[in-house]
Amino acid sequence: GIELNGKIAIVTGASSGIGRAIAFKLAERGANLILGDVKIDELRKVAEEIIKETKVKVVPLYVNVGDFNSTKEFYNKGVSELGVDYVDILVNNAGINRDALFVKMTYEQWDEVIRVDLYSMFNMTKQVVEGMIRRNYGRIINMSSLSWLGNIGQANYSAAKAGVIGFTKTLARELAKYNITVNAICPGFIDTPMTRAVPEKVRQKIIERIPMGRIGQPEDVANLVAFLASDEASYITGEVIGVTGGLVL
Ligand code: NAD
Repeated sequence: GIELNGKIAIVTGASSGIGRAIAFKLAERGANLILGDVKIDELRKVAEEIIKETKVKVVPLYVNVGDFNSTKEFYNKGVSELGVDYVDILVNNAGINRDALFVKMTYEQWDEVIRVDLYSMFNMTKQVVEGMIRRNYGRIINMSSLSWLGNIGQANYSAAKAGVIGFTKTLARELAKYNITVNAICPGFIDTPMTRAVPEKVRQKIIERIPMGRIGQPEDVANLVAFLASDEASYITGEVIGVTGGLVL
């Protein structure tokens, strides 16, 4: 069914925006959570709110998803605090943008985005895959973006998010025999701190181009994550699914 009672899920970037909504949604469905973020104070607040509203266990921990050793410590600490040695669900959600036209883009802007948005996929997935194979069960959900198609000012971000898709499709093929599904989500324009940084004029212009006539909400993305994490999605793998309100680039 669509319930996730007793499942163990990791959500990265869970202190804000889409990750926070995913954490709430998975908790409402009954999953116990290991939440990771670089912003640990905000993350602890999110965990407290979820514990207040649901009955699941929530472990909030610092992680820098761009750093392999940090993801290793995060995973080991998270599972041991829940008294298990596996997770059922991994949501690779943490991500950043450092927009600039290519001629002005610095090496640091390139490096930081590739590290956090693409290396993170390798780093976090490496931690969970052994446990998933051992138990012949897994759901891996990777946050890409509609921007993977190419978007002015986002050479770094588009490259990373396109990389997420290639990674997703290859892992889907390699891990299918272990009953592990791997899918990518491409949000369009979603109302989070990331897009609130966009100047109001530009924001309105983008919203005008969305056929559904509104900006997306973090819950719109979280609903798809909950479905892909459920048993009802057990035959869906290697897919790239948009949550865009019909927006095309
Ligand atoms: P957000 O900035 O609100 O949240 C991102 C979270 O990731 C923050 O809590 C941040 O602290 C955390 N984070 C940043 N770097 C990290 C690191 N190195 N290690 C661990 N955590 C880190 O952004 P959001 O809009 O909620 O974005 C979530 C995901 O969705 C990202 O991967 C983003 O690229 C993707 N996305 C967002 C949109 C949109 O319109 N908002 C569109 C397409 C894709």
